Amino acid sequence: MRMMQRMLHDDVCDALLVTHLPHVRYLSGFTGSSGWLLLRKRSAVLLTDPRYREQAAREVRHARIHIVSGTTMTTALGHGLLRTVDRLGVEAAHLDYVTFDNLRTSLRPVRLVPMIDAVEDLRARKFPDEIAAVRRAVRISERVWHEILPLLQPGVREFEIAAEITYRQRLHGAEGDAFPPIVLFGTRTSLIHGQPSAARLRNGQPVLMDFGCRVNGYASDLTRTVFLGKASRRLREIYIAVLEAQALGRDAIRAGLPAADLDRLVRRHIEQQGFGPYFEHGLGHGLGLEVHERPSLSWRNTQPLEEGAVVTIEPGVYVPGTGGVRIEDDVLVTSDGAVTLSRLPRELMEL
Ligand code: ZN
Ligand code: ZN
Repeated sequence: MRMMQRMLHDDVCDALLVTHLPHVRYLSGFTGSSGWLLLRKRSAVLLTDPRYREQAAREVRHARIHIVSGTTMTTALGHGLLRTVDRLGVEAAHLDYVTFDNLRTSLRPVRLVPMIDAVEDLRARKFPDEIAAVRRAVRISERVWHEILPLLQPGVREFEIAAEITYRQRLHGAEGDAFPPIVLFGTRTSLIHGQPSAARLRNGQPVLMDFGCRVNGYASDLTRTVFLGKASRRLREIYIAVLEAQALGRDAIRAGLPAADLDRLVRRHIEQQGFGPYFEHGLGHGLGLEVHERPSLSWRNTQPLEEGAVVTIEPGVYVPGTGGVRIEDDVLVTSDGAVTLSRLPRELMEL
C-alpha cells in the first residue's frame, strides 16, 4: 500500500480513519461507493458492506477486508477494531457533522483527532502508473475534441455538443466524464463555469469547450476556445493575450517554484494587455483522482511546486457581453520544467 503508514509516524494519532472515497481508493484500491479504511501502524482494515464483498476481494491489496452486515460501520469500529487506540485521526475536511458526532459518542473513550491534509499531501506527487492513467484520459479527450470540431455547425445546440462529448468519451474507453462538460457559445463563453443550454451556434461566435474523462479513476481536464467563422477584433485580442499568458506559464513552471509566483507571472501578462480585471480565477489546479486537488496554482498558495505533480494551466479572460476565452492544458511538473501531457492545437482557430 502506498506509503500509507507514513502519515502515522508523527505520533499525532495511533490510527487514522480514512473516509473520503478518493482517499480510500488511492490507499487501498477499493473503488466502491461505501468504504472506510482504518490505518494502523502495522495493519490496515477496509470496512465495507455486503454489496461489495466480491468487489473488495478483487480490488483491495494490503488490507484486511471487514464486511459490515446488519450494523453501521461506526458500530463495527467500536467492536474490537480499535483495541489499543487512544487517539483516532479523522479526516476533518471530509466528515459530515452527524457522522463525526456518532463516532465521537459511540467510540468513547477513544479521542478523535482532526487531521487536515494527511492524505492530500501524499497524493500531490504522482506515481508513474498515475501519470500513465492521466495521459490515457488526456488522449481520449483529445480524440473526442477532434471529432467534435466538424459538428460545430450553425444551428447546433450547446447541450447536443455536450451529449456528443459524453457519449464519445465513453465510446473510446473512458469510465465516464471527469465532470459535466462545459460547452458555451457566443457571449455565454464569459460564464466561467456555465452549463450547456439550448442556445444555438451562429456564425462569428466563439465556442468554449472544457471537458475531461476518467481512466482508472484518473481525470483529464482540457479547454479550448475556437470560433465559427471569423472572430471579432476584440475577441481576437483577448485570445492572443490568453494564448501568450498560457505559454508563459507552461514555459516557467518547474519544481521548486512557488505556485503563487507562477500565477503572478501569468497574471501580469494579462494585466499588461489590459484584461487584468477579467481574469478572476486561479491559474490552475492539481489533477488526479479528483478534478481539483493539490496543489492549487493560485496567488494564495505560496508553497513550492513538487516534482511529480500533475496540474492544469488554464488562464482565461471573460468579458460580460463580449465573451470569454480559456486555454487549459494538463502538465507534469519536473525538476527542469514541465512535460505538457496534452497536444491539442492552441493557435486561434476559425472553423
Ligand atoms: Zn477544465
Ligand atoms: Zn481545470
